[in-house]
Amino acid sequence: MKPSCLNVIATALLFALGSVSADAAYRTYAEIEQLLEDAENDYPEICQRHDLGLSYQGRRLWALNITNNPGVEEDEPEFKYVSTMHGDEWTCNEMCLYLIDHMLSNYGSDSRITNLIDEIDIWIVPLMNPDGYVANTRSNAQGIDLNRNFPEWVNGDPNTTSGRATETAVVMDWTFASSFTLSANFHTGALVVNYPFDNDGMGSVPSPSPDDDLFIYISEQYSQHNQPMWDSPSFYHGITNGADWYSIDGGMQDWHYRYMGDNEVTIEFSNNKRPPSSEIPQFWEENRESMLSYMDTCLIGIRGIVTDANSGAPLLATVTVAGRDHEIYSDPDVGDYHRMLLPGTYDLTFEVDGYEPVTIQDVVVTTGEATRLDVQLSGPVVVTYPNGGETLTTGVPIEVTWAGNPVAQFHVQYTANYDDYTNVTDDFENAELGPEYTFGGDADWYASTEDAHGGARSAQAGDIGDYDTTWMTRTVPAGELSFWYRVSSENGWDWFDFYIDGVRKIHASGQGSWALYTTTLVGSSHELKWEYTKDTSMSYYSDTAWIDDLEITCENTVWTDIIALTAPGATSTPWAPPAAGSDYKVRVRSYISGGYGVFNESAGTFTVADPSADGDFDGDSDVDLEDFAAFQACLGDSPSAPCAAAFDFEPDGDVDLVDFNILSPLLVGPGG
Ligand SMILES: [Zn+2]
Repeated sequence: MKPSCLNVIATALLFALGSVSADAAYRTYAEIEQLLEDAENDYPEICQRHDLGLSYQGRRLWALNITNNPGVEEDEPEFKYVSTMHGDEWTCNEMCLYLIDHMLSNYGSDSRITNLIDEIDIWIVPLMNPDGYVANTRSNAQGIDLNRNFPEWVNGDPNTTSGRATETAVVMDWTFASSFTLSANFHTGALVVNYPFDNDGMGSVPSPSPDDDLFIYISEQYSQHNQPMWDSPSFYHGITNGADWYSIDGGMQDWHYRYMGDNEVTIEFSNNKRPPSSEIPQFWEENRESMLSYMDTCLIGIRGIVTDANSGAPLLATVTVAGRDHEIYSDPDVGDYHRMLLPGTYDLTFEVDGYEPVTIQDVVVTTGEATRLDVQLSGPVVVTYPNGGETLTTGVPIEVTWAGNPVAQFHVQYTANYDDYTNVTDDFENAELGPEYTFGGDADWYASTEDAHGGARSAQAGDIGDYDTTWMTRTVPAGELSFWYRVSSENGWDWFDFYIDGVRKIHASGQGSWALYTTTLVGSSHELKWEYTKDTSMSYYSDTAWIDDLEITCENTVWTDIIALTAPGATSTPWAPPAAGSDYKVRVRSYISGGYGVFNESAGTFTVADPSADGDFDGDSDVDLEDFAAFQACLGDSPSAPCAAAFDFEPDGDVDLVDFNILSPLLVGPGG
């Protein structure tokens, strides 16, 4: 049996007596380096030491990777514990060393530990600030507090290492090259789990992230197994929102969450910043289960692999959850993403540059292991035929074709009146209001030169006295409605009102200037009503209201389904144009798991012409095999009008063998 790391630690403790530290039993930098090397040598199947880079003074920042198949990118969440970014917080690195030993020595014998190592790509950095550790200082050797040194979202910092402390840059570069799902950084000086945001630009007030529910849950997964922390007199259940405790600028956890899509918390082990080394075993007992339980939480939520639907290549995708303003990213090495979420039902959107975004609706997350959701993306759907400029024949079946996601279904439509707009306008420049208006009340609205928004005239409210009202109506089609209005009246007593179908939309009085009203009218037609009403006494200003420059823009293009949903992966569907016209288009959109993509339509319009009644169904001046194919498609009782016109030679209401016998002699080859 292999010696466990704990045996190595016990041996190492004997050699620590010569240390310069105040408490000789805390290990030296060199001893920690040696422990990590020993771990790699003793457990090569599940453990690899990685050199992340050099500190300012040239000490190595080591990471230990614990996982089955180390060095192989797998469909696993990546997890990290980073310790002692503050060089004088020594208990933290000891907890890392105990954890390393505990996990390595129990792999294969403890099913829980075995499962964590098999299912998670675990990384542990015992000393992020080795120079500060050796010098027993909070800051690094440049005098920089590393937990105030990361790009700060609130300040709009770019996500670069430029100008940052050496060790900050090392950790950032390592994180850029990785795809962490969950992490924590370790400190002493308090006893609490601190979760984002540390800074939301509001100062030291509660600053929840979009994943506040998740952070509370995972923080409590840590604190509930640490009795002194859970029973904290200072923090309910031993957890706190970072800024609610105190806001900081440039913290590492917010950087991970906001810039890298990684859920990170800050864990404080001990109110006593440097407890005596004799208490280390007790700290380990209190934190062991917490450290494992926290790690376990990166397996909850929704996970899967994002690939190119055509090549199968893994993709770097941005994954978002509806209602949560937060991005995470798939790992481009394998395409795996791990969206930690609490039980519930979620809509997820997957986006990759150059690919059509896909939204998967109603993904159910239950307790326990993550719901698996693999996603295949492809370029946007593109219509390939008919794509503009073609002349098709009424009633002749063709195949509408497109290129799109091979795992999608497709919704296919046509229109015969593409880009058909009707504009209803009135600039009220005529001497009389038109017959489309109806008037009522105690006086009629009229064309006035007293004021205008554009031109010389507008429509003005009828001249009325106290107690009176004057109104004007017009029925308009649905569309984008706009008009300008102005009121000049006794403020609060004499009113201009505007109604759509009896529902008041404007209620204005006083001395106003010209104002624009716009809305979208849906459905069919609507009644607009403009009204001016006076109270029992007094008149102020011009004592009236005006409207001007009325416009309703109606989009008349009607899209009709060719097929509501094709089979998955379809690239064509049959369609027979129903009638002659010159403004046809088809359009296609994808449908995957409850979410539609964007319609792509024919690049230009195409024409549909009626067939000639001589067997030349497609109107190309030959009667040939194409016409014969059309004939086949028309065979049968009760043919469509175009079929009957072209092929019911013996007009009996059928296209049948009698007609075939008449058609056959007409068939000629090219040049015939
Ligand atoms: Zn600290």
